[in-house]
Amino acid sequence: MLLRAHFAWSEIYLKRAIVVGSGAGGATVAKELQGAFEVTVLEAGREFRPFTADLSLVGKFRKSGLLFDERMIRFLFPAMKVRKSSGELIIVNGSGAGGTTTICTANGIRRDQCLKEIGINLDKEFEELEREVPLSDDHRRHWNAGTKRVFEICREMGLDPVPSPKLAYRNRCAACGRCIFGCRRGAKWDSREFLNVAMERGAKLLSGCRVKRVFADGGEVYGVEVAGSVRFGFLPADLVVLAAGGLGTPVILRESGFECEDRLFVDPMLCVATKWEGVGQDQEIPMPFIVQREHFMVSPYFDYLSFFFNRQWKYSSPDIYSMMVKLADTGSGSVTGKKITKGLNEIDRSRMNEGVSLCMEIFRRLGREEGDMFLGTINAGHPGGMLPLTGKEATTFHHDWLPQNLYVADATLFPESLGNPPILTIMAMAKRIGRICAALA
Ligand SMILES: Cc1cc2nc3c(=O)[nH]c(=O)nc-3n(C[C@H](O)[C@H](O)[C@H](O)COP(=O)(O)OP(=O)(O)OC[C@H]3O[C@@H](n4cnc5c(N)ncnc54)[C@H](O)[C@@H]3O)c2cc1C
Ligand code: SF4
Repeated sequence: MLLRAHFAWSEIYLKRAIVVGSGAGGATVAKELQGAFEVTVLEAGREFRPFTADLSLVGKFRKSGLLFDERMIRFLFPAMKVRKSSGELIIVNGSGAGGTTTICTANGIRRDQCLKEIGINLDKEFEELEREVPLSDDHRRHWNAGTKRVFEICREMGLDPVPSPKLAYRNRCAACGRCIFGCRRGAKWDSREFLNVAMERGAKLLSGCRVKRVFADGGEVYGVEVAGSVRFGFLPADLVVLAAGGLGTPVILRESGFECEDRLFVDPMLCVATKWEGVGQDQEIPMPFIVQREHFMVSPYFDYLSFFFNRQWKYSSPDIYSMMVKLADTGSGSVTGKKITKGLNEIDRSRMNEGVSLCMEIFRRLGREEGDMFLGTINAGHPGGMLPLTGKEATTFHHDWLPQNLYVADATLFPESLGNPPILTIMAMAKRIGRICAALA
């Protein structure tokens, strides 16, 4: 009788999965898992709201001198979290439903070479994603005359510039240039769309829920400890997937007694800017095209953090044209608790200098004077690498020293920095991991 009751119970009730984080990795896993498991997504941040204030007013306010530390951005825009690393790097990420995808510049680029090298083929997952998310590089009509000219110069220099594929509904995009403040028109895709699909299928989202650690016994996890402003205490689970991002997941692992490797990468980014009266880059699609080099990429990008907080950015926003150099940095650094240990080493610096020289040469060919050029503040927003996959985990996506029902599904798993926008590659990987986990039900 008792046995029969047990069978009836397990047929009616699904096993419980907790997914930690609702960004690129977490939302994708939740969507794949719901149905096989009863999924609860635990998100430390709150509901995401775009920053809607007039940016030119903030631009005027910076002249008061009261904006002097990038971390103050949270007073204007709480969804953007800025921290400083030991090596004085400004580290940026999103906090809230949708994670960092809500403040991204909408680039959807496949960069899975380092995964292929260890025997991971995600072709099927990328093909599916192409059907599930809007992805288009058909936005040249929105480029302003300055960007068109810079594109031509890059072409003449043999740099093979390529229009960036954008995760956006083109017909809704007003090319306003505010992507990093969240899209007010619903034109930019972000991972809340996958989260909504998961919730329509029955998943739950608990926001304001920070996971401190996972509990394990006998090689299996059985729940998590939550310490949020809304909920706290123990939540039981039959499966836990950590997707709290490259800075969040290693902290939870370490708090739970599982070691990570001190191989943090962050993809540092530095902008080279020039005075260019009336060019209006502040009001066009950010990163409209990309030039790929061996260790870095270059792309036009109006850097609002530098504009607000860096005194060298003294011109008004429509009169600045800026190009970012984004590095694939060497993976050395770590995050423990609230402390991020990360700086640029000699190799990183020399690669960054190479990128800066390239941007200055582009500007010289445009006829800009060297005296009109200035640099931004180095910032970074693509953390990962502290639990890298190797060929050994190429099929399982699971490190055998972790409890058998504990998985990671974010850039923490990347063997090295992509030096490029990682959302699409994180999602392809998370899709596979979601399916592997679904088979455990
Ligand atoms: C300004 C900016 C622009 C960017 N633009 C692009 C772009 O155009 N294209 C691109 O591909 N990439 C871009 N990126 C990078 C990209 O957004 C991130 O790399 C990606 O979103 C990471 O996905 P994730 O799932 O690993 O983490 P996230 O998307 O950061 O999500 C992690 C989530 O986990 C939550 N969390 C953290 N700790 C806990 C905890 N203990 N408990 C519960 N929840 C927790 C966080 O609040 C967050 O919501 C950009 C980054 C920045 C900063
Ligand atoms: S440019 Fe403006 S309208 Fe277009 S996706 Fe970005 S924020 Fe939305």
